[in-house]
Amino acid sequence: MRWSLPLGRLFGIPIKVHFTFFFLLAYVYYEFAHNGKSHAAGLVAVALTCILFACVLAHEIGHSLVARFFGTRTRSIVLLPIGGVALLEQIPREPYKEILIALAGPFVSAVLAALFFAAGLAVQAEITLDFADITLGTCLSSLFLINAILVAFNLIPAFPMDGGRVFRGILSLAFGWERGTIWAVRVGQTLAFGFIVFSFFANHLGLLLVGFFILFGAGEEGRLTRIRAALEGAVAAHAMRRTFAVLSPDETLRNAVLKVVSCNQDDFPVVAGGALLGMARHDAMLQGLERHDPSTPIAEFVSTRFTSTEPGAPLEELYVLLARSDRRTIPVIDGGAIVGLLSLEQINRFAQLRRTLRGIRRDEKAAADRAAETYGEGGPSSGSARSTASDAFAPPAGDMT
Ligand SMILES: [Zn+2]
Repeated sequence: MRWSLPLGRLFGIPIKVHFTFFFLLAYVYYEFAHNGKSHAAGLVAVALTCILFACVLAHEIGHSLVARFFGTRTRSIVLLPIGGVALLEQIPREPYKEILIALAGPFVSAVLAALFFAAGLAVQAEITLDFADITLGTCLSSLFLINAILVAFNLIPAFPMDGGRVFRGILSLAFGWERGTIWAVRVGQTLAFGFIVFSFFANHLGLLLVGFFILFGAGEEGRLTRIRAALEGAVAAHAMRRTFAVLSPDETLRNAVLKVVSCNQDDFPVVAGGALLGMARHDAMLQGLERHDPSTPIAEFVSTRFTSTEPGAPLEELYVLLARSDRRTIPVIDGGAIVGLLSLEQINRFAQLRRTLRGIRRDEKAAADRAAETYGEGGPSSGSARSTASDAFAPPAGDMT
């Protein structure tokens, strides 16, 4: 995630904090230090906020460690003012794994809530979120409440909440992953509409925001699932661009930028003696043009640190990789030579084509079945209907189903 500062690693997982988090701390300090309270009150409130976010971090670590148990790496955990996000490399398709990974976070929060509740009882604190004056009691009770809210909020059975993943997992056991997701998304969106309508009657802004949060989160999960389902079993070689222009390192910046237009290509592999030196990226070239002479060799603007992939790499993983990074294009390398370029647009286009083809195949099958019923098995239409659109559009490199 952009604009995040690395804090270090926990269990080998990079922990980052989004810069907007510091606005939250500044706001908390201002509220407590300047509104008739003391400098010390401001600092205590900031410390308490940091502990609250340590609880959020523990929740995300819970997800990450169970994911690791199932062989899924966590790229990073990012703390935002609205909560935390564990960026898992891949959500496993096996429903029971997804259910357990999703439950791990609320489970950690529930344990923390119970601990803070017990500690609150021990010091005989009243459960309150009233911060009029910060005492040990108000600290413990707010820590209890925040963790309890984390559990309750996350168990709402709607994406992007953990409860949505548990719900999808349960539905997937019965209907399969894709249909399970479609139903989980529908239920989540219906729930979101309910929240939004109710928030108007109850005049409750928080509920309205939760409603929209779920509405967009569920829609996004539905979109992602359709793409992932369409990419199932496909590899880089299926979707990569096979005809593309390359640059030599001594080509001028001017020529390179002209090729962006003439070749309709944003990023260019820079190749010398058959070996890939790096990628000349569109934005780097434009920035170079502003600051340097157009006759400067392109070699000066080449980024030599780049991610590459191989023709057999699963597209689903590459889709997640590209969607989460700021790299627009990655080179596909086979035996040391570059054989293709892959971008998010390219993968999206491939997914769309594949979905359309599947739709055509389903229609053809239905038509063939109807024809078979009409003419009897082995009739003139039963075999011939299959060899039309679907096979004609399949790429030579591989199987589209
Ligand atoms: Zn969670």
